[in-house]
Amino acid sequence: MLRRLPVYLLLDCSESMAGEPLNAVEIGVHKMLSSLKRNPYALETVHMSVISFAAKAKILATLSEINAINPPNLSIRPGTSLGAALNLLRASIEKEVTKTTAQEKGDYRPLAFILTDGQPTDDWRGPTRQLRETRPSLASVYGIGCGNEVDFETLGQIADVCFQVDALTPESLGKLFVWLTASIQSASVNPEAPLTLEKNVPLEKGMQLIDKDRPPKFQEKNTRLYFHVACQQSKKHYMMRYRFIPERGVYFVENTFPLPEDFFSDGSLKAPAVDSNLLYGEADCPYCHSLGWGKCGFCGHLFCLDPDNIQPQITCPFCETSLTLSDDNESFSVDGSVG
Ligand SMILES: [Zn+2]
Ligand SMILES: [Zn+2]
Repeated sequence: MLRRLPVYLLLDCSESMAGEPLNAVEIGVHKMLSSLKRNPYALETVHMSVISFAAKAKILATLSEINAINPPNLSIRPGTSLGAALNLLRASIEKEVTKTTAQEKGDYRPLAFILTDGQPTDDWRGPTRQLRETRPSLASVYGIGCGNEVDFETLGQIADVCFQVDALTPESLGKLFVWLTASIQSASVNPEAPLTLEKNVPLEKGMQLIDKDRPPKFQEKNTRLYFHVACQQSKKHYMMRYRFIPERGVYFVENTFPLPEDFFSDGSLKAPAVDSNLLYGEADCPYCHSLGWGKCGFCGHLFCLDPDNIQPQITCPFCETSLTLSDDNESFSVDGSVG
């Protein structure tokens, strides 16, 4: 029997990845698959599976030969359920990977790459323990933290080896996938020694190895807030991203992103409510380009609002209650999520 090198990709699809970063990951996976398809060693040995995680973890591709894998479509969801992804990884390995027995050699030891830009929002300790309780543990796990809001203390306990990718830009993420592709190719030539990937393949510019005994301090919690909004005109959903400005103690709008139709289907993750007086800046609705937003006093959801053209009567795009807007500039609390 041909021994396979199973490679599991665990991809963070939380709100903080919205827009360019998630696009860059999609393109990266796409390019990686086409390079591996042209590499005879990889083609013969590597089998890959793709798991996404946000509010839930989901298998996007079960373990299959490279030629049989279609580049996955990634979509944004609230939350970072890394624990759930680790459970899914363990269950998949137990089901898909052939164990070595006295009679025959099974598959090579699986490689798992976890790409994340934040900290887990669910329990990861139990799933990590279960993944590691067998000796040797079920897979060689690489933790790849992207950007500067990664909790490396946590990632270091989950993964055997940790890297940081300096920024969540298309350029940096593109380079990461160049490294990943070269590493998987090198592992496919010598699948017995995959844990030295970082020594076999020089890291790309902008990537650095993290010393797990001295991980960079993780202090900046909740530096960003995400709010789900519906467009009054189109009824489509979008997300407003605010960034905390510590010197001023307020949040400033950073960007808005369109959200998929089924965004709310996985349930959402609540952050502590924020006073609307602490939120600054014009948040451009990606559909009708209104620069403001309001809150439905009935269902509590947010909707876009054109501050220069406020109608006396509007209908909430969520609960369809007709609302009379108060113009008394009173502050109100807004429920967001932490992505
Ligand atoms: Zn709108
Ligand atoms: Zn409503």
